[in-house]
Amino acid sequence: MELIFATHNKNKLIEVQALMPSHISLLSLTDIGLHDEIPETAVTIAQNAVLKVKYVRERFDLPVFADDTGLLVHALDNAPGVHTARYAGEQRDNDANMNLLLTNLNGISDRSARFITVIALSSQDGECLFEGVCSGVITSERMGDKGFGYDPIFMPDGYDKTFAQMTLTEKGTVSHRAKALGKLIEYLSLGQ
Ligand code: IMP
Repeated sequence: MELIFATHNKNKLIEVQALMPSHISLLSLTDIGLHDEIPETAVTIAQNAVLKVKYVRERFDLPVFADDTGLLVHALDNAPGVHTARYAGEQRDNDANMNLLLTNLNGISDRSARFITVIALSSQDGECLFEGVCSGVITSERMGDKGFGYDPIFMPDGYDKTFAQMTLTEKGTVSHRAKALGKLIEYLSLGQ
């Protein structure tokens, strides 16, 4: 089965490819020659995932899925949430985003946070959503150099290292994206 993964993020693609079973053949946006910046202008994480799949589905007649992720920090009233990518501005700069989050949490003892990923699938059968959550804490400084985004300052519950200190396989056993993807894979496998 051929499935488009609607992302330009190479790190996400690597994470997802590593978790996909061999009967699902993944096509990236580069593979299908779609280089547009897909709009992410919705007001919820789920709606943003849906926007992305609709954008691709209008142009290609193949099943497509997209994910959208938010980081919800308890002491900050669940910010940055849907604004996670643009927390420190439109430039979507990971370093600036992490700096702002660390500054905003300065002196606050409740560091609890969670990542939520929603995957939207659009196929001839319609649209489906799959959610994955990973709870943890925001560390007081960056640790590790693997992964992407906020990985250096997010330590999942039950671990003494950040996502950026984990191998791909380790992150793939615990992450929000891996959990949402597990549900997508189960759904697709039922239809085989
Ligand atoms: P999007 O889902 O690509 O729109 O990502 C929203 C924001 O969350 C971006 O700033 C990403 O860098 C960040 N992000 C998404 N997934 C992860 C992850 O697995 N670890 C750390 N940051 C992430």
